[in-house]
Amino acid sequence: MTDLLPALPEDWERCLAVAAHPDDIEYGAASAVARWTAQGKRVTYLLATRGEAGIDGMHPDEAGPLREAEERGGAAEVGVDVVEFLDHRDGVVEGGLALRRDITRAIRRHRPEVVVSGAFTVRMVGGITNQADHRVVGLAALDAARDAGNRWVFPELADEGLEPWGGVRYVCFAGAERPTHGVDITGEPLLRGIASLNAHAEYMRGLGEESPDAAPFLTWAARAAGAALGVDAAVLFDVHVLAMEGRPPWVS
Ligand SMILES: [Zn+2]
Repeated sequence: MTDLLPALPEDWERCLAVAAHPDDIEYGAASAVARWTAQGKRVTYLLATRGEAGIDGMHPDEAGPLREAEERGGAAEVGVDVVEFLDHRDGVVEGGLALRRDITRAIRRHRPEVVVSGAFTVRMVGGITNQADHRVVGLAALDAARDAGNRWVFPELADEGLEPWGGVRYVCFAGAERPTHGVDITGEPLLRGIASLNAHAEYMRGLGEESPDAAPFLTWAARAAGAALGVDAAVLFDVHVLAMEGRPPWVS
């Protein structure tokens, strides 16, 4: 078959995963994270909110710390021990310069070659209408990956001692309608990913009947994605390439 998607290159060391809410990364991308950390790569999570508005029957003051704890537990299942929260307000995250600056700051501190986030389009995979926070956080992550390399964008970050970082090569969006690359998560990575979503037990209970059972849902999604990559199980990403690979084509 000639129309399989290519595998995402893995010749890099550091990844920053940027999400709106606890559980966003766990709906698929966490299995790719498990593969990467098993290879010795360092993956850090950056959450725009604590997901405090996510449980109907629980006040945000209670839900925020609970969901933060579940996110740290889910991250640990896939080999991630640094989870940072920006404390934007769940459900009403404002797209704009403040959010871009916050993500840029994290990119300059962690210096990732790969940034992972969720689709920022109005529709996502399966034609599902994407949630507002997901849209603004995903787009801000894409813009921040470029902002991080320009010392004259957010010059106040230089005053904080953060030098520009222009080393982000790929910005990868999970849940996209038109993915360009895939990551093979057959076997252990998928199992770690399922454990990662299962760490959000209280949140899932709060969803009631809307909540999918992690193992069958993630296995089904991974198998469907695997067909596009020619493997048993995969996570697919829409990959934006920021840094040019090799010599530009006009240099002979
Ligand atoms: Zn979400």
